Amino acid sequence: MVSSKCPPIGHFVCLNLLFYTLVYYKKKSHIETDLIHGGARFNETSSLVPPIYQTSTYYASESAEQYLETATAVSPSYFYHRHGNPVNNQAADLIAKWEGKSHGLLTSTGMAAISTAILSALNAGDHIIVQHSHYSATSLLFRQVLPKYGIEVSFVDQTDNQAFERALKSTTRLIYLESPSNPNLAISDLQFIAHLAKEHGILTICDNTFSSPINQRPHDFGIDVVIHSATKYLGGHSDLSAGVICASESFIAQAWKHMVVLGTSLAAFDAWLLLKGLRTLNLRVKQINENALKLAQWLEKQDKVDQVVYCGLPSHPQHDLVKRQMKGFTGIITITLTGSSAKEKFLFAQSVLTRLKLFSNAASLGSVESLIVHPASMWGNNHNAEEKVKAGIDEGMLRLSVGIENIVDLMADLHQALNT
Ligand SMILES: *Cc1c(COP(=O)(O)O)cnc(C)c1O
Repeated sequence: MVSSKCPPIGHFVCLNLLFYTLVYYKKKSHIETDLIHGGARFNETSSLVPPIYQTSTYYASESAEQYLETATAVSPSYFYHRHGNPVNNQAADLIAKWEGKSHGLLTSTGMAAISTAILSALNAGDHIIVQHSHYSATSLLFRQVLPKYGIEVSFVDQTDNQAFERALKSTTRLIYLESPSNPNLAISDLQFIAHLAKEHGILTICDNTFSSPINQRPHDFGIDVVIHSATKYLGGHSDLSAGVICASESFIAQAWKHMVVLGTSLAAFDAWLLLKGLRTLNLRVKQINENALKLAQWLEKQDKVDQVVYCGLPSHPQHDLVKRQMKGFTGIITITLTGSSAKEKFLFAQSVLTRLKLFSNAASLGSVESLIVHPASMWGNNHNAEEKVKAGIDEGMLRLSVGIENIVDLMADLHQALNT
């Protein structure tokens, strides 16, 4: 507690007290503190760690009026699981706050967050602008699912601001972004696109999975809705699947209505695990940023690596834009191996994958352990050759998700795999 009486140690202490008093009264948030204590108002018990409400339903309220009120409320904590749950609300509140938004909604997966948000925002006859490069299932949603419901989709090169402008139509209702994009780490100019959309009364959604709010806050550049696959950095331990939508109260109310109908709510145990993961988000992401930068710099010096794409390297084709909109550079590095033909590069990539011991060849990213995948294989089942080129995917490409292991061990593992 701050004392109003100045102790005899002198002016230095007085100034310190003044500083802490100001911090206290301005209620300025700090992420390190909020990740530990945020959302606590949703825990109505006295347990430090909230209990898991492993129940599908709650006792009826005391009166018919109260029942009706709970049954129609947005994300009620105690009614029926598909509508809401105390721990889900606690975790959603914490994430939304760190994305600069007033409201959040947890969903069963990242794809559930993406499809629920998009379906709640669009009607038949609407047009949406998306990028060539997206997470593979997101691309499938745009290519194969939305057109079935009468939604027109235009694909643009996200590194070309004017391409978004050229794609505008009178029916455009939504611009959907992913930056940095998966797997080639292309950057969308969030400020330019948010401004363009606002001028035309168009909604913007950004998938912020690769950055987490520690490294980038799309809200600060004017983006309306921020989405995450919480399976990745937010959860951070490869032990859950979840998604989150962060937006205004009215957008979340509309998305919630669709979540209830589509049945895309998150299970209570996964919300509990997510909350546990969130406690260390800041520490994990900072260590991952540090490891990944060192590893990217080291990879640039390796003979067997033809190209390294990493947001933190000056060689990133959009490094100036990266520096303007990202506070940290994430743990994702994309490398392209040497080889004189697509076949040779493919075989080299496969042999590196089999020789690696610490990097696991597994889907997903953003966890404490290092993972690696071959995007041309992963995207191969839903992209033809031309679509792969447009999405920036090469046969010799590997996508690394750097974990929090000792950096020397990670380098040694890659060194032996590249040079055996
Ligand atoms: C993994 C991922 C998703 C999908 O999330 P799930 O939790 O697997 O459904 C969406 N966007 C990005 C960028 C991803 O990396």
